[in-house]
Amino acid sequence: MKTNLILLAVVIVFSSFKYDLSGPWNLTRQENLVLYTRPEGFSKTPSPDSADICKIISAQLQDIKKVNQMLKTSFNKELRIYLFNYDEAREKIRTNAGGGAKVKICEMYFTFNKDLASKMDDFIGMHEIVHIVAGNELGYPSTVLMNEGYANAVSNGYKLRLSEDGSIQRTTLEQWMNDFIANNQIIKPSELLIKSDKIPEHVFYPQAGYFVKWMMNMYGVETTNTLYTLKPQKLKKKLFLITGKEFNIIEKEYLNYLINKL
Ligand SMILES: [Zn+2]
Repeated sequence: MKTNLILLAVVIVFSSFKYDLSGPWNLTRQENLVLYTRPEGFSKTPSPDSADICKIISAQLQDIKKVNQMLKTSFNKELRIYLFNYDEAREKIRTNAGGGAKVKICEMYFTFNKDLASKMDDFIGMHEIVHIVAGNELGYPSTVLMNEGYANAVSNGYKLRLSEDGSIQRTTLEQWMNDFIANNQIIKPSELLIKSDKIPEHVFYPQAGYFVKWMMNMYGVETTNTLYTLKPQKLKKKLFLITGKEFNIIEKEYLNYLINKL
């Protein structure tokens, strides 16, 4: 059966890409969130209606709270979300299967997919919000392991497939990791730390997320937060200062955990 792969949790931050934000937009504000949506009839694919807008805002406000709770942060800056219609998204934000963010200016750009939006409680999800909250509260990440690891750990990154019959099939992070183990595709954290550019995103993102999630459970969110901005060597040094363990020991603990737990 033909399926369209939608990696909602695996969205790329095109930091240098110039997003085309030209209007017209409808603005809806609630608390510290501003949602920009296209007016009705803007393009050939549906613009969000008032019910969609309501659902999206309430889900995203909840997500900001959840991310703050999980990271023990207190992000409360204004966050702007630009929601592009499906048929214009690829041209304006380079993807129609997710979106991206500009962390420093607290902006997100996302594709409105009516099918997903009506079937899911929160089709935008937390991934981009984690980038924005962590980047503003903890500082700018120096490694892709921390940057994408956080986004996938906190959002519990999952894989979605939209089948031909319109149903959504979800693969949890745990199932995804099981598949990597079964296929002998587990990447060591020491490689995730320095070789992110050599590993395909669909392999890197979930594994970075799973390792960061394990770090948070094992050594605490506060400890993991102190590593967020550090380059590889400093990160290892800091971790040794806090835990008394060399990185290769921590890596062994993690790999043992994977073998025993999954
Ligand atoms: Zn990301």
